[in-house]
Amino acid sequence: MNKPSIRFCPLCGTPVVLQEVLNELRPVCPSCGYVHYDDPKVAVAVIVLQEGKVLLTRRIYPPEEGCWTVPAGFMNAFEEPVGAAERECLEETGLQVRVTGLLDVLGGREHPRGADVLLAYLAEVVGGELKAGDDASAAAFFPLDALPPLAFASTKKLLAKLKR
Ligand code: ZN
Repeated sequence: MNKPSIRFCPLCGTPVVLQEVLNELRPVCPSCGYVHYDDPKVAVAVIVLQEGKVLLTRRIYPPEEGCWTVPAGFMNAFEEPVGAAERECLEETGLQVRVTGLLDVLGGREHPRGADVLLAYLAEVVGGELKAGDDASAAAFFPLDALPPLAFASTKKLLAKLKR
């Protein structure tokens, strides 16, 4: 880390300094001793297959706006991952889903605002009505052999795994 990820102590507001703590340079507060750990960001995704078609949403925001991806989003603190996945799907597509299994766990941040860990669940629709919401400009089912332009290597990887 060359530059601290935070400038001020979140507890007391004093400017932080970089110090080696547990073998890494981390932002430390010279006043109250607070050490800032940059935690990994965790995202959850759901893969909903219905009659050979997969549920996708079109992105409103950069990066890769206009391209399609599976319903996904960040987990909130203190949230439980399956619940987070079901919540994200409802928010983005209007569909209530029930997680039925784990498809894959992917690691590595693809872009600066991405996740370090992506938990990709399989899910089935149990209610709701298909309509785009939140950070999606459209939500629709696509045949696996006729997919629209996809956002992110992780989406392509998950859908490729689904086809097998
Ligand atoms: Zn402080």
